[in-house]
Amino acid sequence: MGCDRMESDGMRYLDKEMSLPEREEFERHLKSCRICRESISQMENLGKLTRGVMIKDPQDTFWEGYWKPIFRRIERKTAWIFILLGGLLVVLYEVYRAVRNFGELTFEKIAIILLITGFVMLLVSVLRERIHQRKVDRYKDIKR
Ligand SMILES: [Zn+2]
Repeated sequence: MGCDRMESDGMRYLDKEMSLPEREEFERHLKSCRICRESISQMENLGKLTRGVMIKDPQDTFWEGYWKPIFRRIERKTAWIFILLGGLLVVLYEVYRAVRNFGELTFEKIAIILLITGFVMLLVSVLRERIHQRKVDRYKDIKR
């Protein structure tokens, strides 16, 4: 089983190490020799498969590494938006309630006013920090 040409020329043909006349001559042989033809096509498929696996692997890790931080950032940003939005709604509701029936200045109202003031200050502080951070990030990106 086997053909001498496959052993002497098969790999050189697959590796494209043949001169054009040699190549043409070998292709003529392939047409007439089923053993060589089948071996060559088998090895070509194997080569494609190996190359496919080798190319696919680093690409996968690249995309994983590329998307993971973005998802994490979006996740965190969404969490912040929910927290801020929820807090803001509570504050707005309390303000609305306090304004609607602002009778005497009770202990409860003072507590709510303090709470709202504190929350607004915290919100402004956080927002200022985020904006500052974004500026720093942008600066870093430009520097790189
Ligand atoms: Zn042959």
